[in-house]
Amino acid sequence: MTDILTTARARVLDEGRGLDYEDLIKVLDLPDDQIPDLLALAHEVRVKWCGEEVEMEGIVSLKTGGCPEDCHFCSQSGLFQSPVRSTKLDIAELIEQARQTAKTGATEFCIVAAVKGPDENLMVQLENAIEEIYANVEGIDVAVSVGTLTPEQVNRMKAAGVHRYNHNLETARSYFPKVVTTHTWEERRETMELIKDAGIEVCCGGIVGMGESPEQRAEFAVQLRELDPHEVPLNFLDPRPGTPFANMPVM
Ligand code: SF4
Repeated sequence: MTDILTTARARVLDEGRGLDYEDLIKVLDLPDDQIPDLLALAHEVRVKWCGEEVEMEGIVSLKTGGCPEDCHFCSQSGLFQSPVRSTKLDIAELIEQARQTAKTGATEFCIVAAVKGPDENLMVQLENAIEEIYANVEGIDVAVSVGTLTPEQVNRMKAAGVHRYNHNLETARSYFPKVVTTHTWEERRETMELIKDAGIEVCCGGIVGMGESPEQRAEFAVQLRELDPHEVPLNFLDPRPGTPFANMPVM
């Protein structure tokens, strides 16, 4: 019987196709002593299919904290007692931040806000800021992450010149209701489908280590792949006793 690393090498490295759900489960079941081989293979896949270059991206928070949603992993939710200050930046500050980001050699400047989705004030502020950044800062593309969007808002993002949009699925569809109750996984996915259809680059990932099962991690990987994202930001929480996430309120 062919072992899973050999299968992965042929399918992912040689053919450029993803593993299916059953094979992902086998990868997650690999013993610890095969992890170095798995990591080496992952590196080969990256170099072959993505190249050796690494893209640098700067992120600035336009509005921090005070979000009305209840994502249990997020310190910016206004529904939990997190020590996060609510702050807002103006357009002049955003231009300066973009300029400083470009000076570091970064090519992407991402504006994020802790909101369910942008209201009209935020949309106008973003449109004005993006116009000013492109007019005043060379060598930088603008990305945005401001939550769930309507089709009309997606069109406005495209017209404003948004190069990439981030909105994470966060976890497997089957596990999402355990960590968020104020909106659905499907809402997140719909926004990213609109983004993709509009021709804006998709940045979509999530968090591993929120109590999901290995099967749900494989499910999450398959669901992410269906979106064919340009970029997949992944965070890893460590909920073991004694770590900062040990008391995360999972229902
Ligand atoms: S919607 Fe975003 S900012 Fe708001 S609580 Fe959820 S993850 Fe945090």
